[in-house]
Amino acid sequence: MFDVLPQLPADPILGLSTAFKADTNPHKIDLGVGVYKDEQGHTPILTSVAKAQTILLGKEDSKTYITPQGVQGYIDGMLELMLGKGNPVLLADRIAAVQAPGGCGALRILAELIKRCDENTTVWVSDPTWANHIPLIGNAGLKLETYPYFDKSNASINFDAMADCLGKVKKGDIVLLHGCCHNPTGADLSKEQWQVVLELAQKTGFIPFVDTAYQGFGDGLEEDAYGMRLLVNNLPEVLIAASCSKNFGLYRERVGVAVMVTENTKTRQAIQTQIQSIARGIYSMPPSYGGALVDIILNDEALKAEWMAEVEGMRSRMQDLRALLVAKMNEYGATKDFEFVKKQKGMFSFLCITPEQVQAVRDQHSVYFVGSSRVNIAGISKTNVDALAKALVSVL
Ligand code: PLP
Repeated sequence: MFDVLPQLPADPILGLSTAFKADTNPHKIDLGVGVYKDEQGHTPILTSVAKAQTILLGKEDSKTYITPQGVQGYIDGMLELMLGKGNPVLLADRIAAVQAPGGCGALRILAELIKRCDENTTVWVSDPTWANHIPLIGNAGLKLETYPYFDKSNASINFDAMADCLGKVKKGDIVLLHGCCHNPTGADLSKEQWQVVLELAQKTGFIPFVDTAYQGFGDGLEEDAYGMRLLVNNLPEVLIAASCSKNFGLYRERVGVAVMVTENTKTRQAIQTQIQSIARGIYSMPPSYGGALVDIILNDEALKAEWMAEVEGMRSRMQDLRALLVAKMNEYGATKDFEFVKKQKGMFSFLCITPEQVQAVRDQHSVYFVGSSRVNIAGISKTNVDALAKALVSVL
């Protein structure tokens, strides 16, 4: 019976990796898949993570299942990291949370939760948004709509249009917001704009759903939590999907957390049972390993300090690369102003060039990135930046 199903085309981003691997040009450059890379193009195991692995090896004495909600020390550590130590919402017993298999797992659990509440709910996502938001939320059976976000013609957020759209959404609709380091554009809301989003949520009654996958990669661990904290501290209900793939470098361990801030303890208790039952119906129990490592790091002062310094190192390297790329493009005679790349945050930038130019730079110079013109800044290095800048300038 299964022969009725057709073969699907390769995922655009994963397909790009395959094409990159097949390219025999020794000077090829990969700015596609969103993983952090060091100067050597390697995705390292963080030193703090390696130390936590040694500690875990010495103390783990069983491989029996962990509890359905996950490693409690991990969840508590993550909530403190996201919401801030001593946050009154944390102390008010209003937060339901489960450890999830990656940020993707968290997004899907929360999408299923929304569906259980009301299957006719509309989820609003930014235009553009991370491509995987669409199947993660849409495949749960929810309706998706887009709100205007980024204007490629002037490489900045079209906030008036965004606010205008969000001002008209229905009470009970869900609005997905990127906590920081917007993927794919790298364009983040300012503090003033977060304030407007909060006021719109208060006015219309939409519920924010914050996806935070890059905390620490934008302006810093505290700074990047600004918008999320503003919403959590001032609204009765907020959903949060967090990932430890990037800032802990734990991609393959699949560790994230699905969080729902509820109005009161009674609802919190009910939602806790709901999200656990959703997880039970998909994969039963969360994997332990990644959460156990993050638990060790976040609950050990010295290791946490070491991890924070490593996040800071990744962040400042990416900021330096942004400045270097812009300087090199100017040096090689760019006919377009790329200053905006320096203002964008995190791992991604939209270069705001056309799909034809993206294809040309790939065909002529073996530089690989997605057709939307999203580049992974961490794929740039001091060794490849001259070739990259020349290649980009040549197709403008
Ligand atoms: N959200 C965004 C915006 C992302 O870019 C990613 C990963 O690329 C995720 C969530 C989920 O990441 P993971 O499932 O690997 O933890």
